[in-house]
Amino acid sequence: MLFPWQQQDWQRLNAERARLPNAWLFIGPAGTGKLEFALHLAQSLLCEQLQADHQPCGQCEGCRWFEHGTHPDFRRLSPQTEEEEEGKEAKPGRKLPLIKIEAVRQVIEFAHLTAHRAGQRIVVVEPAENLNPAAANALLKILEEPPQDVLFLLVAQAAQRLLPTIRSRCRQFPLSAPSPAQALDWLRQQGVSNAEAELAHNGARRCSTMTRCWPSCAASLSMAWANPRLPASSIWPSWWTSRSCRWPFRWAGWANGCTIWLV
Ligand SMILES: [Zn+2]
Repeated sequence: MLFPWQQQDWQRLNAERARLPNAWLFIGPAGTGKLEFALHLAQSLLCEQLQADHQPCGQCEGCRWFEHGTHPDFRRLSPQTEEEEEGKEAKPGRKLPLIKIEAVRQVIEFAHLTAHRAGQRIVVVEPAENLNPAAANALLKILEEPPQDVLFLLVAQAAQRLLPTIRSRCRQFPLSAPSPAQALDWLRQQGVSNAEAELAHNGARRCSTMTRCWPSCAASLSMAWANPRLPASSIWPSWWTSRSCRWPFRWAGWANGCTIWLV
């Protein structure tokens, strides 16, 4: 799916389809729909009855397989939980932070197979900055000598943590974040009551559990301050946790119970 604030990005990307690279690198703030954008592109490339504006039809066999997560020409590379690795039932919220080389090797094998549907094979890597060093080097090798008709879609919020050689092998594509007004509209459309407070409060709370989330923090903070009708209880956590994102203020995150900043 595309979010309303991604329509211009979609048009911008469509204008570049005539000269598709072997790898894209989608960059943007946390929690703004980067992965959804990459998945939408993947589906549109695998769709067999493409609609106007390069939108996937949602009806063809390719789309149905994609939506059920079973498309044979698609792979997604993300960190696995310990349980997934051991074949046990996964517990939510226990993501390992890194993508390991074994997973990259499986994707490399996949990339060298012949496509099932006579089209492209697509690999989404997300979050790309979570490749461990060995995995990043393995991915770099295949980006340097990409098999024909294989497209890599890397998604990152901290592209500076990627190997410079990986970045240089990808076409970088910054994605838009929603303005406060767009974020509010979206929350209201989803039926969120008291959307203004929710945006300020939960936006900041999300930041407290993720690293390198400056843009989201800044958006929440400006949202809170820009709207004088917000209750002080919403503004205060936004201000506090946003400060905790800054390196000199890590102690503040700790004092506020955000022990993740000490990891
Ligand atoms: Zn389709």
